[in-house]
Amino acid sequence: MSQAVIVIGGGLAGSEAAWQLAERGHQVRLYEMRPAKSTGAHVSDRLAELVCSNSLGSKLPDRATGILQREMRLLGSLLLTCAQEAAVPAGGALAVDRDRFAESVTARITGQGNIDVRREEVRAVPSNEPTIVATGPLTSPALATDIGKLTGEDYLYFYDAISPIVRADSIDMGRAFQANRYGRGDGDAGDYINCPMNRQEYERFVSALQNAETIELRDFERDDPNFFEGCVPIEQLAKRGRDTLAFGPMRPVGLINPHSGRRPHAVVQLRQDDLAGNLYNIVGFQTNIRWKQQKEILRMIPGLEDAEFLRMGQMHRNTFLNAPALLHPTMRFRSRDNLYFAGQITGVEGYVGNIATGFVAALNLSRQQRGLPAWIPPQDTMLGTLCHYVTHTEPKHFQPMKANLGILPPLTVKIKNKVERRRAYAERAEESMRLSLASLDDKLIAADPPAIPIEA
Ligand SMILES: Cc1cc2nc3c(=O)[nH]c(=O)nc-3n(C[C@H](O)[C@H](O)[C@H](O)COP(=O)(O)OP(=O)(O)OC[C@H]3O[C@@H](n4cnc5c(N)ncnc54)[C@H](O)[C@@H]3O)c2cc1C
Repeated sequence: MSQAVIVIGGGLAGSEAAWQLAERGHQVRLYEMRPAKSTGAHVSDRLAELVCSNSLGSKLPDRATGILQREMRLLGSLLLTCAQEAAVPAGGALAVDRDRFAESVTARITGQGNIDVRREEVRAVPSNEPTIVATGPLTSPALATDIGKLTGEDYLYFYDAISPIVRADSIDMGRAFQANRYGRGDGDAGDYINCPMNRQEYERFVSALQNAETIELRDFERDDPNFFEGCVPIEQLAKRGRDTLAFGPMRPVGLINPHSGRRPHAVVQLRQDDLAGNLYNIVGFQTNIRWKQQKEILRMIPGLEDAEFLRMGQMHRNTFLNAPALLHPTMRFRSRDNLYFAGQITGVEGYVGNIATGFVAALNLSRQQRGLPAWIPPQDTMLGTLCHYVTHTEPKHFQPMKANLGILPPLTVKIKNKVERRRAYAERAEESMRLSLASLDDKLIAADPPAIPIEA
């Protein structure tokens, strides 16, 4: 294979991508700007440095990250192998000795004869060479500006203000109700789930927000001059005045509570977040409150007393694309054939999810270079549903997503028991991945991969 391929960013996604390409015979130039230039969050010059937690999530075979880890092991992921080797005791989680993990990835990458690691910042997306951009949430400003030119500035975000996501079946519809403001919209029932509050409930809620403890921002996040513009957290709105929220994201106009026949004093609205309608995000509720307290406060909302949260609200610097508008589920950029993105910049969250998109981008770039058809992981696998989610959600409301059972397509048979339901999702995913791999014809992926031993 003559033309070298370029991978920009030696983090989780870029390291996995470079390895997979090199193992398939491609000459790879892997650019990593550290140690010459730092991100502000990384502290070493090693590849695949974990910037925060040392946990790659649950390894239990019926949990979302557990399913994804198993899939990545079926696919022959380098980083999952290194994680396994560097594992430390952590109950049901796959946690690693972070130094050993990064050292082991760095040693393997630098020892792979087909990979030329260059410690340089890439300031512009290469215009001709086949490329994977995997520069993560803290992509250097020069490169981010260039990516912005390619995507259009409206399609590249620099900051993440995420509102919480709730599992639909954990909302108490005896208290909440479905409706659109003024009855607008096509659906009979209404697109929004509304949680109504009377004055007393609202006052208590505002007081809790005013007194809530927030997560301290780090220096590299505080420096951002546009930090809170356009996405003021609810706790800050509450501090501006007791009625600010009732005139803002919690305004009740155009809504009548069918349970009481009256207009509520304030309303918390939830909007569908996935096509299947399993997930709802709380509209305009970006927040930086500490997670434990955040859960307690959100459960004060009528209808959310027993809510199951799939993602908590959070705020941090995060460079990511509007992937539904820009990327194909193969991680290919829609308007340039040999340009791929991988990792957190695609809007995927979580260490394993980022490793996984590195794999998908690399495999597809490799296949494209060899004239083979693209591989789209099946949608009922955790990897497939993640790639599908970030490339198919409504672009207007796109927010990053991590692996979770709620984004899998529903089972054909409804299973009430939670444990059995999780197991059914896991078994379906594994079977589907095995079937897909059997038809892939890739010499590095066994046609019939052996069963993976399940660790408790
Ligand atoms: C402060 C912080 C804490 C986090 N904590 C967690 C956590 O606990 N759990 C979790 O799952 N996720 C966490 N994340 C998200 C985390 O960043 C990702 O899960 C994961 O590291 C992303 O992998 P990646 O490969 O996309 O990016 P990274 O691992 O960040 O790798 C990107 C690499 O690209 C390099 N780079 C950037 N720009 C250039 C350039 N122009 N030229 C060359 N190289 C460049 C960077 O130096 C970096 O090494 C955190 C993120 C931040 C910022």
